[in-house]
Amino acid sequence: MAIAYELQCRECGKRYENAPLSICEACFSPLEVQCDLEAARKDFTREKIAQGPDSMWRYKALLPVPEEYVGPTPSGWTPLLRAPRLAKRIGANNLYIKNDAVCTPTLSFKDRVVSVALAAAQTFGFDTVGCSSTGNLANAVAAHAARLGFKTYILVPADLEPAKILNTQVYGAKLVRIDGNYDHVNRLCSQIADRYNWGFVNVNLRPYYAEGSKTVGYEIAEQLGWRLPDNIVCPMAGGSLITKIKKAFKELVELGLVEDKEVRFFGAQATGCSPISVAVKTGADHIEPQKPNTIARSLAIGNPADGVYAARAIRNSGGWAEDVSDVEIVSAIQELAETEGVFTETAGGVTTAVTARLYAHGRIKPDELTVSVITGNGLKTTDALAGVYEVEEPVRPRLTDFEAYFERQKATLGIEELEAIAGGASVR
Ligand SMILES: *Cc1c(COP(=O)(O)O)cnc(C)c1O
Ligand SMILES: [Zn+2]
Repeated sequence: MAIAYELQCRECGKRYENAPLSICEACFSPLEVQCDLEAARKDFTREKIAQGPDSMWRYKALLPVPEEYVGPTPSGWTPLLRAPRLAKRIGANNLYIKNDAVCTPTLSFKDRVVSVALAAAQTFGFDTVGCSSTGNLANAVAAHAARLGFKTYILVPADLEPAKILNTQVYGAKLVRIDGNYDHVNRLCSQIADRYNWGFVNVNLRPYYAEGSKTVGYEIAEQLGWRLPDNIVCPMAGGSLITKIKKAFKELVELGLVEDKEVRFFGAQATGCSPISVAVKTGADHIEPQKPNTIARSLAIGNPADGVYAARAIRNSGGWAEDVSDVEIVSAIQELAETEGVFTETAGGVTTAVTARLYAHGRIKPDELTVSVITGNGLKTTDALAGVYEVEEPVRPRLTDFEAYFERQKATLGIEELEAIAGGASVR
């Protein structure tokens, strides 16, 4: 390969020069970026990466951007947190969370994919970019496009959460609400991209977009001290992220940055939109599309573009997939916040609830090193918690009033909590 990266068909292997193209002309299968690993070998070393910026751009040598490209936005390099208190609750003993709830600038892992997609949009000379989105992608495209000076059209299902609509419009992007679900929106975007010659990050720029997700995998390995975990638990919408974390690990092994090891991949979906988890559970090699009905709207893709590949990646790794109800999603959001101080959106509730179930069912053993991938921030889906917390009457600003309030409170507490308040002294 003379150039650092190019497109290749996932099924027939036909190669294409870099272009805004996502489907093979010969067999209509999806195209994928292949980076020239040998050419990257000299720059993609532990030492050079460590000298790079504290952002996803430290892995630039294996991202499809021009060699001299300087990423204008420092997304990525989010914390990998040990999660001992959550672990204790769910019967785990070696659990981490990769916290992309604090990915900047728009608080979801979509900042990573958009960073790479818009670099490609610049290379191809587009002046207008856009996307079809279940919310987080809209926010990320709007923010990154503002910084790069693109005109932006973003198409979303009409029932999107208000916070995600506002978080798109504030950047000056044109937001078009479509009277339909994500799958309708996506189909329309393909037609618009052709008709107007716009760069749609998850349509004609999709192969480049998808590579951005690899940085989640690189970071997990580097943050674990350049080793791979035993298990990854990952939410799935289109099914791209989970396959790209796997690809990232494979590249790291091939380049000798980590020791080879079998990593099991576990996919997480909401039961109200679970086409990939159903395929994994039934052993089907095709995806039966669904009509989404769940509060986890960022994962509500009924006909996932990479669903078949995600299901295959999971099965070939010896992993599994699960799906959880909306009620379980809400409790898991609370559980993660209460135990680890991480407020995630509904997608993170899905991942956390599925992680708990995988331990409960013995699919993951307590001592295995497991990373649960938290992909988005709870501030964007506060409506999922509407009515969960009661708003109490205000207390007058006097100590005696607070004392009276506190006595009333105590009546609602258990013995253990009361003893903690009393500093161990008996309060009975
Ligand atoms: C888009 C998204 C996902 C899933 O990504 P895919 O690559 O489409 O599977 C997961 N979590 C959040 C918060 C997202 O916005
Ligand atoms: Zn092909």
